[in-house]
Amino acid sequence: MNAIANKVVVITGASSGLGEATARLLAGRGAKLVLGARRLDRLEKLAADIIAAGGEAIAVATDVARRADVENLIKAGQDRFGRVDVLVNNAGIMPMAAMSKLKVDEWDRMIDVNIKGVLYGIAAALPGMRANGSGHIINLSSVAGLRVSAGVGTVYSATKFAVKAISEGLRAEVGPEGIRVTTLYPGAVASELVNGSSDADAAAGMKAFYEANEIPSDSVARAVAYAIEQPADLSVNEITLRPTRQEF
Ligand code: NDP
Repeated sequence: MNAIANKVVVITGASSGLGEATARLLAGRGAKLVLGARRLDRLEKLAADIIAAGGEAIAVATDVARRADVENLIKAGQDRFGRVDVLVNNAGIMPMAAMSKLKVDEWDRMIDVNIKGVLYGIAAALPGMRANGSGHIINLSSVAGLRVSAGVGTVYSATKFAVKAISEGLRAEVGPEGIRVTTLYPGAVASELVNGSSDADAAAGMKAFYEANEIPSDSVARAVAYAIEQPADLSVNEITLRPTRQEF
């Protein structure tokens, strides 16, 4: 029996990219998956694939910008599988543009999804984990959460710096209760994220950057699996992973 088998893992943003790759890898190692995102059709297809391969998964329509949706996602996992062992706060958006373009609605949306979505996940999962005296919260920051992606990514970077701060504060607070906290800082990984810019200049620049650098999405899935499979007394706090050829 491996250390991932039978763990109940909730993944937000499981309908594509890193979240989907992580769900597939963990399901293959015997985890029970609770899949959240807005595109329920994609989640249901993923859950069906996992079940057809002998695994266990449920799909729950979730907008992480809505606290009630995130509470419902965690509750669905608890109701179906009895508990939630791991929450992967993965849902995120990356609409890139220079600050001078004043895309204030997109700034709001990034704050709602990338920061408040993570906080709502923590708020929903933490009480059950504290009651169990164990649990694991895995947050997706970015290399843009370590260095400011100035030019087109300042607000995106701000949201990912916030994820770093939230994770580190959470780790210090709940580690003594037996709850592990991991923050991932990936570089360019192939997914749908790069398509999220409404600004034509930024979109072209991001597309070229990803084409020159990106690595497959299972790179992040393997890092998540590594963090989860460590013994309970070992909390992998931070993992930075980049394409070898990527400078930023
Ligand atoms: P994708 O665009 O492929 O996936 C993003 C996921 O987030 C989708 O499943 C999407 O599902 C979901 N999502 C977006 N908005 C919401 C919302 N309001 N509520 C619920 N789910 C939502 O991108 P990635 O897989 O690349 O991104 C995953 C995470 O990894 C993000 O946090 C991103 O910032 C981070 N990251 C990615 C990097 C990369 O190069 N790919 C690098 C560093 C960090 P749906 O639309 O169905 O709701």
